[in-house]
Amino acid sequence: MSNKQVVVVDGDDSAPEAMIPSVALLESMDLPIDFHRPLIGQAAIDEIGTGFPAEAKAAIDASDATFFGSTSGACTAALFYLRWGRETYANVRPCRWIPGYQSPLAAPEGIDFVIIRENLEDLYLGLEGELSDLAALNLTSRNARKPITGMGPGKYAVKAITEVGSERVIRLAFELARKRDKKRKVTLTCKYNMLRVSDGLFLEVGQRLADDYPDIELETYIIDDFLCRMITKPHDLDVVVMPNLYGDIMSDGAAGLMGGLGLAASGCYGDDYAYFESAHGTAPDIKGMNIINPTATLVSAGMMLDYLGFAEASDNLTAAISQVYREGNALTPDQGGNASTTDFCRVVEEYLS
Ligand code: ATP
Repeated sequence: MSNKQVVVVDGDDSAPEAMIPSVALLESMDLPIDFHRPLIGQAAIDEIGTGFPAEAKAAIDASDATFFGSTSGACTAALFYLRWGRETYANVRPCRWIPGYQSPLAAPEGIDFVIIRENLEDLYLGLEGELSDLAALNLTSRNARKPITGMGPGKYAVKAITEVGSERVIRLAFELARKRDKKRKVTLTCKYNMLRVSDGLFLEVGQRLADDYPDIELETYIIDDFLCRMITKPHDLDVVVMPNLYGDIMSDGAAGLMGGLGLAASGCYGDDYAYFESAHGTAPDIKGMNIINPTATLVSAGMMLDYLGFAEASDNLTAAISQVYREGNALTPDQGGNASTTDFCRVVEEYLS
């Protein structure tokens, strides 16, 4: 079997401080994976004037997956290509509490659910502009009951929900609920009472797909009700699916339930490609301090190993991370410890061997 090819993008601000030791740790696992670091981001801008050179795009296209460090700008073109160019439509964000995570909840034991955020549509198409540009459409607000032209100067943003886009991500949620074989439940949430047409379509597609999965329960909540339930009864959840913007927000909330953004992993899956990155941003406020929690990055790496067909290695990595938290002696400051990022990775590596 030929080696798997993985493109690594170290990212911006504090992200490389988590990515570099995480990739070193993956390399220490001696798996048949070749890691490639094409010239990309700020280094590429400095050298050849573009953050996403053709060679970097070609490297992504020739690879099995990308391991991506959070970006604040310079790597954005690469990120957009990974998302929209490679159509990675399902952003999967696990929320599983493990002993040692500093959850603010009194009883976090047993929290184990996954948020699947539609990754390409909704308000993230970047279709924004002047309200006056819409005048020719003669739109009238359903709720305010007045024409859009009477609202005065302002801006608009387009929210688009498509049948194809909804169907593929909701189907993935049903499939994941089956594969997990836990509560065998999909929770679908959005604002279908207010956005009856767009979010209404997302709901309708989910209800239609439920017929194909008689062994999986479908429950539906309006997003505000869902948020309250996620905080008060997180143990009831299994697989949760929602449109893009809600997913972006709710998954950071779910990270908070576990114990913080430093624990929040993610994988973005399409039909023929996937990339993996922590759900958190670049943590610019702690840049250069070697204290960024690499857990989110390492758990994302575990998801990547699983995707690449190394399920046992993925389980071993998860077990080693869990052991660090159980023993609690190499935790980063966000989790109440005083270890550095590199200390944490070193101890994970020790537990792996
Ligand atoms: P973005 O807009 O890209 O989400 P942001 O600056 O709004 O970026 P984050 O970078 O996620 O958001 O940071 C939010 C806060 O959480 C910051 O105080 C940051 O230091 C902290 N944080 C984020 N990730 C981690 C981590 N892995 N370890 C420790 N602290 C983190």
